[in-house]
Amino acid sequence: MSKLTLDRILQSQGFGTRKYCRSLIDDGEVTINGAVVTDYKIALDTDGLVFTLFGEDWTYREHLYIALHKPANFECSRKPSQHRGVLSILPEQFSWRELQPVGRLDHDTTGLLLMSDDGAFNHAQSSSKRHIPKLYLASTQDPVTPALIAYLLAGVKLPDEPAPLLALVCRQTGERQLEIVLEQGKYHQVKRVLEALGNPCIALQRSAIGGLSLAALELDEGEWCYLEPAQLALLV
Ligand code: URA
Repeated sequence: MSKLTLDRILQSQGFGTRKYCRSLIDDGEVTINGAVVTDYKIALDTDGLVFTLFGEDWTYREHLYIALHKPANFECSRKPSQHRGVLSILPEQFSWRELQPVGRLDHDTTGLLLMSDDGAFNHAQSSSKRHIPKLYLASTQDPVTPALIAYLLAGVKLPDEPAPLLALVCRQTGERQLEIVLEQGKYHQVKRVLEALGNPCIALQRSAIGGLSLAALELDEGEWCYLEPAQLALLV
């Protein structure tokens, strides 16, 4: 059991500075179990704590684990330069937490993007030692051929990569569409190998990471959800 005072709880959840959080409590903006709480020093058990602020219910979360269906034209960066950042899609108070995109998708790639403020989780997910399969759906400029699939499975040697880039699985899903499973996460990997094979990628979606898929999460483009422990366990 972990206990924190109410002002620290609101601050930890990203609602502003401690001083501002105290003012919210003083102003009677916080309700717990239907009763307004105006004592900011009250120590509460944070496990499963639900509070209401500005009329909305919030569950205390020590860390945030979020899945976003990233739309096109958003950058996976806390400091975007050319397009809006993915964090701008999430509630404003999350910007007070150290939320980071886990790995990157190109600005024009859509699909499943994880974000967390748990440094150990982000590090483990991004580690090249963990071979977490990632499923991509790629649309190609020209029709897919058996030779293209054979090359992707055999590995494509790019001039600036020491070893060939391999697809673990590769399956044609339409005349100009492929499902590709990668374990590596090299820069622009799907686009660069398709370009090198002479059939450029014209649209790309990441559909799943490990056993966690966009379809199972039922997220439309631009939608997000919290990931609970059972879903995090699928990220292997
Ligand atoms: N491969 C790419 O080329 N782009 C991405 O965003 C992800 C994988």
